[in-house]
Amino acid sequence: MIHQRLWDQELNKKLYQIKPFLIPNPNPPSSTRRQQVIWTRMKIGHTNITHIHLMRREPRPNCELCNNAPISTAHLLLECPNLTEQRKIFPNLTLRDILSIKNFNYLITFLKITNLYNRI
Ligand SMILES: [Zn+2]
Repeated sequence: MIHQRLWDQELNKKLYQIKPFLIPNPNPPSSTRRQQVIWTRMKIGHTNITHIHLMRREPRPNCELCNNAPISTAHLLLECPNLTEQRKIFPNLTLRDILSIKNFNYLITFLKITNLYNRI
């Protein structure tokens, strides 16, 4: 297990911004293995749709939905103007809230209604 002091040095890492304290991290109840993988990928911001360009040794592309900003999980969850309607299902709008365990089912629903689910 990583010591809290070492974890605190991870200030610029994406996961630290969402999960600053090392506490047990249970999986959402009734979640499938696939959903748990998706949840973890969304929390660290590394998904197929946002990182496939690295495998292809290409520069980071713009969001294919709006072509208006570099693709990222934060862009898809919070900013993409083409997902404004689908985003209304979220009761909270901070990235941390959206990726919290209490909103897990909203996240999965959002990814399904936006056809992103199979691209995470
Ligand atoms: Zn977009």
